[in-house]
Amino acid sequence: MSSSGAVKKVVIAGGGTAGWVAAAALSKRLQGLVDVVLVESEEIGTVGVGESTIPPVTLFHNLLGIDEQEFMRATDATFKLGISFENWGQVGDRYIHPFGTTGKGSFLADFQHYYLHGLTQGIDAPFGDYCVELQAARAHKFAKPQGQGEAPLLSYAYHLDAGRYARFLRQFSEKLGCVRIEGKINTVTQHTNGDIRSLVLDDGQEVSGDLFIDCTGFRALLIEQTLHAGFERWDHWLPCNKAVVVQTQSAATLPPYTRAMAHDAGWQWKIPLQHRVGNGLVYAADFLSDEAARQRLLDGLETPALMEPRVISYQTGRRKQVWLNNCVAMGLSSGFIEPLESTSIYLFMNSVIRLLRLFPFAGVTPALAAEYNQQSVRELEKIRDFIILHYHQTERRDSPFWDYCRTMTVPDSLAQRIELFRDSALAFQTGDEMFRLESWTHVLLGQRLKPQSYHQLVQQIPPQDLSRHLQQIRDTIGRAVERLPSHREFIAHYCASGLQ
Ligand SMILES: Cc1cc2nc3c(=O)[nH]c(=O)nc-3n(C[C@H](O)[C@H](O)[C@H](O)COP(=O)(O)OP(=O)(O)OC[C@H]3O[C@@H](n4cnc5c(N)ncnc54)[C@H](O)[C@@H]3O)c2cc1C
Repeated sequence: MSSSGAVKKVVIAGGGTAGWVAAAALSKRLQGLVDVVLVESEEIGTVGVGESTIPPVTLFHNLLGIDEQEFMRATDATFKLGISFENWGQVGDRYIHPFGTTGKGSFLADFQHYYLHGLTQGIDAPFGDYCVELQAARAHKFAKPQGQGEAPLLSYAYHLDAGRYARFLRQFSEKLGCVRIEGKINTVTQHTNGDIRSLVLDDGQEVSGDLFIDCTGFRALLIEQTLHAGFERWDHWLPCNKAVVVQTQSAATLPPYTRAMAHDAGWQWKIPLQHRVGNGLVYAADFLSDEAARQRLLDGLETPALMEPRVISYQTGRRKQVWLNNCVAMGLSSGFIEPLESTSIYLFMNSVIRLLRLFPFAGVTPALAAEYNQQSVRELEKIRDFIILHYHQTERRDSPFWDYCRTMTVPDSLAQRIELFRDSALAFQTGDEMFRLESWTHVLLGQRLKPQSYHQLVQQIPPQDLSRHLQQIRDTIGRAVERLPSHREFIAHYCASGLQ
């Protein structure tokens, strides 16, 4: 097999969510052009977390032709309309970062300027009252439009069972011809130019290929242990580096959102699935011991645990090159920001789409790899900034952890955004940015940043017109949410897994 020739066979190392997402997309879209093989080891297992997603997951499924109801039944999935951030700006605070749009601005001034002007006129409805997803989330309601005028078109993502999702994608991929090989990778062999030639398994079997996808998780067996791509650490900005996780029985309520509750050395998640709740306490080991974290997690559980709590260690940062030689790293092997905004699954879905767009049919070239790497880092750094914002923009002064986060130096790109919003309420998004203007605005306001001024153009609107405009938006949303069924009712008739 040549190290620089046409790519006819892709070998995926690792069968966690990243490995099977890559396998599903490549098997579906490159069927007949490229053979896809996946090697995984049951003995090693997967990281076993990663259950909250963001809306582009629905686009990814559409690209693959995945049937939503079948997928949701198979993975015990529920709908997600946003994340409830509790205790972040200050202990006792709560705001929801919703999906979808908020309010209605104009060509020259985005909605937050109208909202802020309204506040000065005594219209003090919260910013979230102008977002239908947020109001539906608060009311624990959800529906998809089945006919004209029946339900608003909500922007949503899913909560899903990670283990079942990997199995679902495995079946999907194998039906399309993907070959799965069970075994532990013992040695990675290389061509003289450094390209990977094959994976040699513990039983002596040799799996060779033209292009290798490293989905071996934090081990990064190919991209780091073999190719030494290097790692840029971000823990000075994102100091949490451990999580203790446990699954619990279902709770009485089924909110269509993830909860992210800050504590004095990190935060805690609750992810409601149909048949259970996923719980995890994220913390910075410099500020909280494993035993204290474990106890805190157990003390805060609403329903009985279904397993012993498990500690996962990680380091935030990115692989310096995610495409190196004939190897592309996806998932945890490519780096990890942190789970706060549920971006990891999205990132590797987008990575595999990027790979399909830039696929090296005629052979790997430095230009393709460089383009891929540049696009990846641009996307990742913007998400990184957005997540750092949650930690840094806070008024919490109740622990050394929050003192550190509040006073740390942040990347210039983020410092500029914060300053712009503080000065003039301006938020922006660039073309390749995952989190849109509304996301930035919800989080900036939710984290208690008070803009000193806003766009003066909105002052030209007569007060009664502004009042009517804002009232109309709130009324329309109120009526739409009123008509929605509860999230639980909708799941029951749309995609019940039978495990509730
Ligand atoms: C605490 C925490 C919470 C998270 N929460 C979210 C979330 O809510 N939303 C989200 O989008 N993401 C989340 N993530 C990230 C998400 O879990 C991962 O991105 C996702 O599970 C993909 O993992 P992976 O497939 O890269 O790695 P893994 O699941 O670790 O899979 C690695 C695979 O490689 C195989 N392997 C490794 N070494 C070998 C070997 N020598 N031979 C053969 N096979 C091998 C393993 O057997 C396994 O199949 C979270 C991560 C953490 C740490």
